Amino acid sequence: MQIIKPEEVLAEYLPPLTDHEALVEAHRCLYCYDAPCTHACPTHIDIPKFIKKIASGNLVGSARTILEANLMGATCARVCPVEELCEGACVLGAEHRPIAIGRLQRYATDYVYERGMDVFKPGSPTGRKVAVIGAGPAGLTCAGELAKLGHSVTVFEKRELAGGLSTYGIIGLREPVGVALAEVEMVRRLGVTIKTQMELGRNLSWEEVRVQFDAVFLSIGLGAVPALGIPGEEQVVDGLEFIEAAKLNPYRLWVGRQVAVIGAGNTAMDCATIAKRMGAERVTVVYRRSEKEMTAYPHEYSFVKNEGVEFRFLTQPVEVLSEGGQVVGLRCVRMALGEPDASGRPAPRPVAGSEFVLPCDQVVKAIGQEKPTLAQVLGLQTEKGYIKVNDDFETSLPKVYAGGDCVRAKGAASTVMAVQDGKMAAFAIHRRLTSSVGAAAD
Ligand SMILES: Cc1cc2nc3c(=O)[nH]c(=O)nc-3n(C[C@H](O)[C@H](O)[C@H](O)COP(=O)(O)OP(=O)(O)OC[C@H]3O[C@@H](n4cnc5c(N)ncnc54)[C@H](O)[C@@H]3O)c2cc1C
Ligand code: SF4
Repeated sequence: MQIIKPEEVLAEYLPPLTDHEALVEAHRCLYCYDAPCTHACPTHIDIPKFIKKIASGNLVGSARTILEANLMGATCARVCPVEELCEGACVLGAEHRPIAIGRLQRYATDYVYERGMDVFKPGSPTGRKVAVIGAGPAGLTCAGELAKLGHSVTVFEKRELAGGLSTYGIIGLREPVGVALAEVEMVRRLGVTIKTQMELGRNLSWEEVRVQFDAVFLSIGLGAVPALGIPGEEQVVDGLEFIEAAKLNPYRLWVGRQVAVIGAGNTAMDCATIAKRMGAERVTVVYRRSEKEMTAYPHEYSFVKNEGVEFRFLTQPVEVLSEGGQVVGLRCVRMALGEPDASGRPAPRPVAGSEFVLPCDQVVKAIGQEKPTLAQVLGLQTEKGYIKVNDDFETSLPKVYAGGDCVRAKGAASTVMAVQDGKMAAFAIHRRLTSSVGAAAD
Protein backbone atom coordinates (compact mmCIF):
# COMPACT_ATOMS: atom_id res chain seq x y z
CA MET A 1 0.00 0.00 0.00
CA GLN A 2 1.22 3.45 -0.89
CA ILE A 3 1.86 5.64 2.17
CA ILE A 4 0.91 9.25 1.55
CA LYS A 5 2.62 12.01 3.49
CA PRO A 6 0.47 15.15 3.30
CA GLU A 7 3.44 17.34 4.24
CA GLU A 8 5.05 16.13 1.00
CA VAL A 9 2.15 15.85 -1.44
CA LEU A 10 0.52 19.10 -0.29
CA ALA A 11 3.75 21.08 0.24
CA GLU A 12 4.30 24.40 -1.54
CA TYR A 13 4.40 23.57 -5.22
CA LEU A 14 6.93 26.05 -6.57
CA PRO A 15 10.38 25.97 -4.96
CA PRO A 16 11.89 29.31 -3.91
CA LEU A 17 14.30 30.90 -6.39
CA THR A 18 17.96 30.42 -5.52
CA ASP A 19 20.08 33.58 -5.18
CA HIS A 20 21.57 32.90 -8.60
CA GLU A 21 18.19 32.33 -10.26
CA ALA A 22 16.78 35.50 -8.70
CA LEU A 23 19.72 37.58 -9.89
CA VAL A 24 19.55 36.22 -13.43
CA GLU A 25 15.78 36.80 -13.57
CA ALA A 26 16.06 40.32 -12.12
CA HIS A 27 18.69 41.23 -14.73
CA ARG A 28 16.35 40.14 -17.53
CA CYS A 29 13.88 42.91 -16.60
CA LEU A 30 13.90 45.94 -18.93
CA TYR A 31 12.87 48.29 -16.06
CA CYS A 32 10.24 49.78 -18.33
CA TYR A 33 9.18 53.39 -17.97
CA ASP A 34 5.49 53.62 -17.03
CA ALA A 35 5.65 49.84 -16.64
CA PRO A 36 2.60 47.89 -17.83
CA CYS A 37 3.18 45.26 -15.11
CA THR A 38 2.70 47.94 -12.41
CA HIS A 39 -0.49 49.17 -14.10
CA ALA A 40 -1.81 45.60 -14.18
CA CYS A 41 -1.21 45.08 -10.44
CA PRO A 42 -4.37 46.03 -8.50
CA THR A 43 -2.14 47.34 -5.66
CA HIS A 44 0.21 49.10 -8.13
CA ILE A 45 3.46 47.73 -6.73
CA ASP A 46 6.38 49.53 -8.39
CA ILE A 47 7.57 46.31 -10.00
CA PRO A 48 10.62 47.57 -11.96
CA LYS A 49 11.82 49.32 -8.78
CA PHE A 50 11.61 46.23 -6.58
CA ILE A 51 13.21 44.06 -9.25
CA LYS A 52 16.05 46.57 -9.72
CA LYS A 53 16.71 46.45 -5.98
CA ILE A 54 16.99 42.65 -6.18
CA ALA A 55 19.48 43.06 -9.06
CA SER A 56 21.57 45.43 -6.93
CA GLY A 57 21.44 43.15 -3.87
CA ASN A 58 19.20 45.45 -1.79
CA LEU A 59 16.67 42.84 -0.68
CA VAL A 60 15.32 44.74 2.33
CA GLY A 61 14.73 47.77 0.10
CA SER A 62 13.05 45.52 -2.45
CA ALA A 63 10.72 44.07 0.18
CA ARG A 64 9.94 47.59 1.40
CA THR A 65 8.94 48.69 -2.12
CA ILE A 66 6.59 45.70 -2.37
CA LEU A 67 5.10 46.01 1.11
CA GLU A 68 4.59 49.78 0.82
CA ALA A 69 2.02 49.06 -1.88
CA ASN A 70 0.85 45.67 -0.67
CA LEU A 71 1.23 44.74 2.98
CA MET A 72 0.29 41.12 2.17
CA GLY A 73 3.07 40.95 -0.44
CA ALA A 74 4.29 37.49 0.66
CA THR A 75 0.80 36.02 0.28
CA CYS A 76 0.17 37.77 -3.02
CA ALA A 77 3.54 36.59 -4.36
CA ARG A 78 2.11 33.08 -4.09
CA VAL A 79 -1.62 33.34 -4.70
CA CYS A 80 -2.03 36.11 -7.26
CA PRO A 81 -3.17 35.00 -10.70
CA VAL A 82 -0.01 36.59 -12.13
CA GLU A 83 -0.72 35.19 -15.59
CA GLU A 84 -3.81 37.41 -15.70
CA LEU A 85 -2.17 40.40 -13.98
CA CYS A 86 1.46 41.60 -13.84
CA GLU A 87 3.13 38.76 -15.75
CA GLY A 88 0.34 38.78 -18.31
CA ALA A 89 1.16 42.45 -18.98
CA CYS A 90 4.96 42.09 -19.06
CA VAL A 91 6.39 43.39 -22.36
CA LEU A 92 8.64 40.34 -22.57
CA GLY A 93 5.63 38.03 -22.66
CA ALA A 94 4.80 38.42 -26.34
CA GLU A 95 8.01 37.16 -27.85
CA HIS A 96 10.03 35.83 -24.93
CA ARG A 97 9.17 34.63 -21.43
CA PRO A 98 7.56 37.18 -19.07
CA ILE A 99 9.59 38.04 -15.98
CA ALA A 100 8.72 35.72 -13.08
CA ILE A 101 7.42 38.67 -11.05
CA GLY A 102 5.53 36.56 -8.49
CA ARG A 103 8.54 34.42 -7.71
CA LEU A 104 10.84 37.46 -7.44
CA GLN A 105 8.33 39.07 -5.09
CA ARG A 106 8.34 35.91 -3.00
CA TYR A 107 12.16 35.92 -3.00
CA ALA A 108 12.31 39.49 -1.61
CA THR A 109 9.50 39.17 0.94
CA ASP A 110 10.70 35.76 2.19
CA TYR A 111 14.10 37.36 2.79
CA VAL A 112 12.71 39.75 5.42
CA TYR A 113 10.25 37.29 7.00
CA GLU A 114 12.83 34.53 7.31
CA ARG A 115 15.10 36.95 9.17
CA GLY A 116 12.34 38.41 11.33
CA MET A 117 13.04 41.89 9.92
CA ASP A 118 10.44 44.65 10.12
CA VAL A 119 10.47 47.20 7.34
CA PHE A 120 7.90 49.56 8.90
CA LYS A 121 7.36 51.16 12.29
CA PRO A 122 4.11 52.24 14.00
CA GLY A 123 3.31 55.92 13.42
CA SER A 124 3.20 58.61 16.14
CA PRO A 125 -0.02 58.10 18.14
CA THR A 126 -3.01 60.12 16.92
CA GLY A 127 -5.23 59.18 19.86
CA ARG A 128 -7.89 57.79 17.48
CA LYS A 129 -9.24 54.24 17.78
CA VAL A 130 -10.37 51.99 14.94
CA ALA A 131 -12.00 48.56 15.11
CA VAL A 132 -11.47 46.08 12.30
CA ILE A 133 -13.89 43.14 12.09
CA GLY A 134 -12.33 40.12 10.39
CA ALA A 135 -8.62 39.32 10.12
CA GLY A 136 -8.37 38.27 6.46
CA PRO A 137 -6.19 40.07 3.90
CA ALA A 138 -8.52 43.11 3.75
CA GLY A 139 -8.73 43.53 7.54
CA LEU A 140 -5.05 42.92 8.21
CA THR A 141 -4.02 45.38 5.50
CA CYS A 142 -6.38 48.07 6.77
CA ALA A 143 -5.20 47.49 10.35
CA GLY A 144 -1.51 47.59 9.40
CA GLU A 145 -1.83 50.73 7.29
CA LEU A 146 -3.77 52.51 10.05
CA ALA A 147 -1.13 51.51 12.62
CA LYS A 148 1.59 52.91 10.34
CA LEU A 149 -0.38 56.18 10.43
CA GLY A 150 -0.45 56.18 14.24
CA HIS A 151 -4.00 55.00 14.97
CA SER A 152 -4.77 52.54 17.72
CA VAL A 153 -6.29 49.50 16.00
CA THR A 154 -8.05 46.42 17.40
CA VAL A 155 -8.89 43.55 15.07
CA PHE A 156 -11.69 41.18 16.12
CA GLU A 157 -11.59 37.77 14.46
CA LYS A 158 -14.09 34.98 14.99
CA ARG A 159 -11.76 32.08 14.20
CA GLU A 160 -8.95 30.73 16.38
CA LEU A 161 -6.28 31.88 13.93
CA ALA A 162 -6.08 35.17 12.06
CA GLY A 163 -5.35 35.37 8.33
CA GLY A 164 -8.81 34.61 6.89
CA LEU A 165 -8.79 32.47 3.77
CA SER A 166 -5.00 32.83 3.46
CA THR A 167 -4.76 30.73 6.63
CA TYR A 168 -7.79 28.47 6.22
CA GLY A 169 -8.84 28.46 2.58
CA ILE A 170 -5.94 28.67 0.13
CA ILE A 171 -4.51 25.27 -0.65
CA GLY A 172 -1.10 24.59 0.95
CA LEU A 173 0.40 23.86 -2.47
CA ARG A 174 0.05 27.57 -3.18
CA GLU A 175 0.38 29.11 0.29
CA PRO A 176 1.53 27.30 3.43
CA VAL A 177 -0.16 28.39 6.68
CA GLY A 178 3.16 29.75 8.00
CA VAL A 179 3.29 32.46 5.34
CA ALA A 180 -0.14 33.83 6.31
CA LEU A 181 0.69 33.67 10.02
CA ALA A 182 4.00 35.51 9.51
CA GLU A 183 2.01 38.38 8.00
CA VAL A 184 -0.37 38.34 10.97
CA GLU A 185 2.61 38.65 13.32
CA MET A 186 4.07 41.50 11.26
CA VAL A 187 0.77 43.39 11.66
CA ARG A 188 0.81 42.67 15.41
CA ARG A 189 4.34 44.07 15.66
CA LEU A 190 3.04 47.30 14.13
CA GLY A 191 1.12 47.65 17.40
CA VAL A 192 -2.23 46.23 16.24
CA THR A 193 -4.17 44.24 18.86
CA ILE A 194 -5.66 41.10 17.32
CA LYS A 195 -8.37 39.45 19.40
CA THR A 196 -9.33 36.04 18.04
CA GLN A 197 -12.46 34.02 18.83
CA MET A 198 -14.39 37.29 18.94
CA GLU A 199 -17.35 37.24 16.61
CA LEU A 200 -19.40 40.31 15.88
CA GLY A 201 -23.03 39.39 16.53
CA ARG A 202 -22.14 36.55 18.93
CA ASN A 203 -19.70 37.51 21.72
CA LEU A 204 -18.98 41.02 20.45
CA SER A 205 -21.80 43.53 20.33
CA TRP A 206 -22.22 46.07 17.55
CA GLU A 207 -23.29 48.77 20.04
CA GLU A 208 -20.07 48.30 22.03
CA VAL A 209 -17.94 48.58 18.92
CA ARG A 210 -19.72 51.72 17.71
CA VAL A 211 -19.37 53.41 21.11
CA GLN A 212 -15.78 52.43 21.85
CA PHE A 213 -14.19 53.18 18.47
CA ASP A 214 -13.95 56.27 16.27
CA ALA A 215 -14.36 54.24 13.07
CA VAL A 216 -15.02 50.64 12.05
CA PHE A 217 -13.78 48.61 9.07
CA LEU A 218 -15.82 45.53 8.20
CA SER A 219 -13.79 42.86 6.40
CA ILE A 220 -15.86 39.80 7.15
CA GLY A 221 -15.45 38.02 3.81
CA LEU A 222 -18.20 35.71 2.61
CA GLY A 223 -20.13 32.87 4.23
CA ALA A 224 -20.25 29.09 3.98
CA VAL A 225 -20.66 27.04 0.81
CA PRO A 226 -24.38 27.19 -0.10
CA ALA A 227 -26.62 24.13 0.06
CA LEU A 228 -27.07 22.06 -3.11
CA GLY A 229 -30.71 21.42 -2.26
CA ILE A 230 -30.67 17.78 -3.37
CA PRO A 231 -31.62 14.57 -1.53
CA GLY A 232 -28.68 13.07 0.34
CA GLU A 233 -27.11 16.50 0.87
CA GLU A 234 -26.19 15.60 4.49
CA GLN A 235 -23.57 13.19 3.08
CA VAL A 236 -21.83 15.92 1.10
CA VAL A 237 -18.52 17.33 2.34
CA ASP A 238 -18.15 21.13 2.42
CA GLY A 239 -15.30 22.11 0.08
CA LEU A 240 -13.96 24.87 2.36
CA GLU A 241 -13.87 22.46 5.32
CA PHE A 242 -12.13 19.91 3.10
CA ILE A 243 -9.39 22.40 2.17
CA GLU A 244 -9.10 23.63 5.78
CA ALA A 245 -8.62 20.07 7.05
CA ALA A 246 -6.01 19.40 4.34
CA LYS A 247 -4.10 22.50 5.48
CA LEU A 248 -4.40 22.32 9.24
CA ASN A 249 -5.21 18.70 10.06
CA PRO A 250 -4.23 16.60 7.04
CA TYR A 251 -3.74 13.33 8.93
CA ARG A 252 -7.40 13.44 10.00
CA LEU A 253 -8.71 14.12 6.51
CA TRP A 254 -10.64 11.22 5.02
CA VAL A 255 -10.45 11.03 1.24
CA GLY A 256 -12.52 8.53 -0.75
CA ARG A 257 -11.25 6.31 -3.54
CA GLN A 258 -13.63 7.78 -6.07
CA VAL A 259 -14.38 11.42 -5.38
CA ALA A 260 -16.91 13.65 -7.13
CA VAL A 261 -16.32 17.39 -6.80
CA ILE A 262 -19.29 19.60 -7.61
CA GLY A 263 -18.49 23.01 -9.11
CA ALA A 264 -15.88 24.35 -11.53
CA GLY A 265 -14.37 27.40 -9.87
CA ASN A 266 -10.94 27.68 -8.29
CA THR A 267 -12.17 26.16 -5.01
CA ALA A 268 -13.37 23.08 -6.90
CA MET A 269 -9.97 22.81 -8.61
CA ASP A 270 -8.28 22.97 -5.19
CA CYS A 271 -10.57 20.28 -3.72
CA ALA A 272 -9.95 18.04 -6.73
CA THR A 273 -6.18 18.51 -6.42
CA ILE A 274 -6.24 17.64 -2.73
CA ALA A 275 -8.36 14.53 -3.31
CA LYS A 276 -6.06 13.32 -6.08
CA ARG A 277 -2.84 14.01 -4.20
CA MET A 278 -4.21 12.42 -1.03
CA GLY A 279 -4.66 9.15 -2.85
CA ALA A 280 -8.08 9.10 -4.56
CA GLU A 281 -7.95 6.78 -7.56
CA ARG A 282 -10.49 8.74 -9.52
CA VAL A 283 -11.54 12.35 -9.09
CA THR A 284 -14.34 13.73 -11.26
CA VAL A 285 -15.35 17.37 -11.41
CA VAL A 286 -19.06 17.67 -12.13
CA TYR A 287 -20.25 20.94 -13.65
CA ARG A 288 -23.63 21.84 -15.07
CA ARG A 289 -22.34 24.23 -17.71
CA SER A 290 -19.61 23.70 -20.31
CA GLU A 291 -15.83 24.13 -20.24
CA LYS A 292 -16.28 27.61 -21.72
CA GLU A 293 -18.32 28.91 -18.77
CA MET A 294 -16.22 27.49 -15.94
CA THR A 295 -14.88 30.18 -13.62
CA ALA A 296 -11.56 28.55 -12.66
CA TYR A 297 -8.47 30.31 -14.00
CA PRO A 298 -7.14 28.61 -17.16
CA HIS A 299 -3.81 27.80 -15.44
CA GLU A 300 -5.68 26.14 -12.53
CA TYR A 301 -7.73 24.10 -14.98
CA SER A 302 -4.69 22.86 -16.86
CA PHE A 303 -2.95 22.13 -13.54
CA VAL A 304 -5.70 19.78 -12.35
CA LYS A 305 -5.97 18.12 -15.74
CA ASN A 306 -2.25 17.35 -15.46
CA GLU A 307 -2.94 15.90 -12.02
CA GLY A 308 -5.28 13.40 -13.71
CA VAL A 309 -8.60 14.91 -12.62
CA GLU A 310 -11.52 14.11 -14.96
CA PHE A 311 -14.33 16.45 -15.96
CA ARG A 312 -18.03 15.86 -16.57
CA PHE A 313 -19.36 19.03 -18.16
CA LEU A 314 -23.07 19.71 -18.77
CA THR A 315 -23.87 17.47 -15.84
CA GLN A 316 -26.12 18.38 -12.92
CA PRO A 317 -26.12 16.33 -9.70
CA VAL A 318 -29.67 15.51 -8.56
CA GLU A 319 -29.18 13.04 -5.69
CA VAL A 320 -26.44 11.64 -3.49
CA LEU A 321 -26.94 7.89 -3.21
CA SER A 322 -25.83 6.02 -0.12
CA GLU A 323 -26.09 2.56 1.39
CA GLY A 324 -25.74 2.00 5.14
CA GLY A 325 -24.56 5.59 5.62
CA GLN A 326 -21.82 5.30 2.97
CA VAL A 327 -21.96 7.27 -0.28
CA VAL A 328 -22.10 4.96 -3.28
CA GLY A 329 -22.88 7.29 -6.13
CA LEU A 330 -24.07 10.62 -7.45
CA ARG A 331 -27.19 10.56 -9.56
CA CYS A 332 -26.82 13.14 -12.33
CA VAL A 333 -28.72 14.44 -15.31
CA ARG A 334 -27.22 15.67 -18.58
CA MET A 335 -27.78 19.35 -19.37
CA ALA A 336 -28.09 21.45 -22.52
CA LEU A 337 -27.34 25.16 -22.68
CA GLY A 338 -30.10 27.65 -23.49
CA GLU A 339 -30.53 31.42 -23.42
CA PRO A 340 -28.32 33.51 -21.08
CA ASP A 341 -29.54 33.76 -17.45
CA ALA A 342 -29.10 36.61 -14.91
CA SER A 343 -25.34 35.91 -14.76
CA GLY A 344 -25.10 36.47 -18.52
CA ARG A 345 -24.06 32.85 -19.08
CA PRO A 346 -26.17 30.35 -21.03
CA ALA A 347 -28.73 28.77 -18.71
CA PRO A 348 -28.36 24.99 -18.40
CA ARG A 349 -31.54 22.90 -18.84
CA PRO A 350 -31.97 19.19 -18.05
CA VAL A 351 -32.16 16.81 -20.99
CA ALA A 352 -35.19 14.53 -20.52
CA GLY A 353 -34.37 10.87 -19.87
CA SER A 354 -30.62 11.46 -19.56
CA GLU A 355 -30.14 10.45 -15.90
CA PHE A 356 -27.16 8.32 -14.96
CA VAL A 357 -25.22 7.41 -11.82
CA LEU A 358 -21.61 8.42 -11.34
CA PRO A 359 -20.10 5.84 -8.97
CA CYS A 360 -18.25 7.53 -6.09
CA ASP A 361 -17.71 7.13 -2.35
CA GLN A 362 -17.25 10.82 -1.51
CA VAL A 363 -18.93 13.97 -2.77
CA VAL A 364 -17.40 17.40 -2.16
CA LYS A 365 -19.29 20.59 -2.95
CA ALA A 366 -17.43 23.70 -4.05
CA ILE A 367 -20.09 25.97 -5.52
CA GLY A 368 -19.05 29.36 -4.17
CA GLN A 369 -19.80 31.08 -0.87
CA GLU A 370 -22.93 32.64 0.66
CA LYS A 371 -23.27 36.44 0.64
CA PRO A 372 -22.42 38.28 3.90
CA THR A 373 -25.56 37.92 6.06
CA LEU A 374 -24.23 40.32 8.71
CA ALA A 375 -25.03 43.27 6.43
CA GLN A 376 -28.79 42.93 7.05
CA VAL A 377 -28.28 42.37 10.79
CA LEU A 378 -26.31 45.63 11.06
CA GLY A 379 -28.84 47.47 8.91
CA LEU A 380 -26.37 48.25 6.12
CA GLN A 381 -27.44 48.92 2.55
CA THR A 382 -26.48 46.15 0.17
CA GLU A 383 -25.85 45.71 -3.53
CA LYS A 384 -26.65 42.25 -4.97
CA GLY A 385 -26.36 40.93 -1.40
CA TYR A 386 -22.90 42.42 -0.80
CA ILE A 387 -22.24 45.39 1.52
CA LYS A 388 -22.68 48.60 -0.44
CA VAL A 389 -19.83 51.12 -0.18
CA ASN A 390 -18.99 54.45 -1.82
CA ASP A 391 -15.67 55.34 -3.50
CA ASP A 392 -14.12 55.80 -0.04
CA PHE A 393 -15.29 52.31 1.05
CA GLU A 394 -17.74 53.91 3.47
CA THR A 395 -21.01 52.02 3.99
CA SER A 396 -24.47 53.54 4.42
CA LEU A 397 -23.58 54.10 8.11
CA PRO A 398 -21.20 57.02 8.72
CA LYS A 399 -17.69 56.02 9.85
CA VAL A 400 -18.43 52.37 9.13
CA TYR A 401 -16.25 51.23 6.24
CA ALA A 402 -16.07 47.85 4.49
CA GLY A 403 -13.85 46.10 1.96
CA GLY A 404 -12.66 42.79 0.56
CA ASP A 405 -14.89 39.91 -0.53
CA CYS A 406 -17.89 41.23 1.44
CA VAL A 407 -18.20 44.24 -0.92
CA ARG A 408 -17.17 42.48 -4.14
CA ALA A 409 -20.47 42.88 -6.02
CA LYS A 410 -18.56 43.10 -9.32
CA GLY A 411 -15.66 41.04 -10.67
CA ALA A 412 -13.89 38.00 -9.27
CA ALA A 413 -12.89 38.11 -5.61
CA SER A 414 -9.16 37.80 -5.04
CA THR A 415 -6.64 38.42 -2.31
CA VAL A 416 -4.92 41.29 -4.07
CA MET A 417 -8.24 43.14 -4.53
CA ALA A 418 -9.03 42.65 -0.85
CA VAL A 419 -5.59 44.08 0.03
CA GLN A 420 -6.17 47.12 -2.18
CA ASP A 421 -9.59 47.71 -0.57
CA GLY A 422 -8.05 47.47 2.91
CA LYS A 423 -5.31 49.94 1.99
CA MET A 424 -7.62 52.49 0.32
CA ALA A 425 -10.14 52.21 3.17
CA ALA A 426 -7.34 52.86 5.69
CA PHE A 427 -6.35 56.04 3.84
CA ALA A 428 -10.01 57.16 3.73
CA ILE A 429 -10.46 56.45 7.46
CA HIS A 430 -7.24 58.36 8.20
CA ARG A 431 -8.43 61.36 6.17
CA ARG A 432 -11.74 61.27 8.01
CA LEU A 433 -10.22 60.98 11.48
CA THR A 434 -7.59 63.65 10.96
CA SER A 435 -9.48 66.23 8.90
CA SER A 436 -10.85 69.11 10.94
CA VAL A 437 -14.40 68.43 9.64
CA GLY A 438 -14.30 64.69 10.42
CA ALA A 439 -12.65 65.18 13.81
CA ALA A 440 -15.02 67.96 14.83
CA ALA A 441 -18.01 65.77 14.03
CA ASP A 442 -16.92 63.21 16.66
C1 LIG B 1 -10.77 27.96 -1.61
C2 LIG B 1 -10.37 29.34 -2.02
C3 LIG B 1 -9.19 29.51 -2.74
C4 LIG B 1 -8.81 30.78 -3.11
N1 LIG B 1 -7.66 30.92 -3.82
C5 LIG B 1 -7.27 32.16 -4.19
C6 LIG B 1 -6.06 32.33 -4.92
O1 LIG B 1 -5.36 31.39 -5.24
N2 LIG B 1 -5.70 33.61 -5.25
C7 LIG B 1 -6.45 34.69 -4.90
O2 LIG B 1 -6.07 35.82 -5.19
N3 LIG B 1 -7.60 34.54 -4.21
C8 LIG B 1 -8.03 33.30 -3.85
N4 LIG B 1 -9.19 33.16 -3.17
C9 LIG B 1 -9.96 34.37 -2.79
C10 LIG B 1 -9.30 35.05 -1.59
O3 LIG B 1 -8.96 34.10 -0.62
C11 LIG B 1 -10.25 36.09 -1.01
O4 LIG B 1 -10.60 36.99 -2.07
C12 LIG B 1 -9.62 36.89 0.13
O5 LIG B 1 -9.23 36.04 1.19
C13 LIG B 1 -10.61 37.93 0.64
O6 LIG B 1 -10.11 38.54 1.79
P1 LIG B 1 -11.09 39.15 2.88
O7 LIG B 1 -10.22 39.72 3.93
O8 LIG B 1 -12.09 40.01 2.23
O9 LIG B 1 -11.92 37.89 3.44
P2 LIG B 1 -11.50 36.56 4.19
O10 LIG B 1 -10.16 36.10 3.80
O11 LIG B 1 -12.64 35.64 3.98
O12 LIG B 1 -11.45 37.00 5.72
C14 LIG B 1 -12.62 37.35 6.42
C15 LIG B 1 -12.36 37.14 7.90
O13 LIG B 1 -13.44 37.67 8.65
C16 LIG B 1 -13.75 36.75 9.71
N5 LIG B 1 -15.13 37.01 10.12
C17 LIG B 1 -16.26 36.77 9.40
N6 LIG B 1 -17.36 37.15 10.10
C18 LIG B 1 -16.91 37.65 11.27
C19 LIG B 1 -17.55 38.21 12.41
N7 LIG B 1 -18.89 38.33 12.48
N8 LIG B 1 -16.80 38.63 13.46
C20 LIG B 1 -15.44 38.52 13.40
N9 LIG B 1 -14.78 37.98 12.35
C21 LIG B 1 -15.50 37.58 11.30
C22 LIG B 1 -13.52 35.39 9.07
O14 LIG B 1 -13.34 34.39 10.04
C23 LIG B 1 -12.25 35.66 8.26
O15 LIG B 1 -11.08 35.44 9.02
C24 LIG B 1 -9.61 31.90 -2.77
C25 LIG B 1 -10.79 31.72 -2.05
C26 LIG B 1 -11.18 30.46 -1.69
C27 LIG B 1 -12.46 30.27 -0.95
S1 SF4 C 1 6.84 44.87 -18.00
FE1 SF4 C 1 8.28 43.12 -17.66
S2 SF4 C 1 10.24 43.91 -18.39
FE2 SF4 C 1 8.93 45.71 -18.10
S3 SF4 C 1 9.32 46.41 -15.96
FE3 SF4 C 1 7.59 44.99 -15.88
S4 SF4 C 1 8.55 43.01 -15.43
FE4 SF4 C 1 10.20 44.33 -16.17
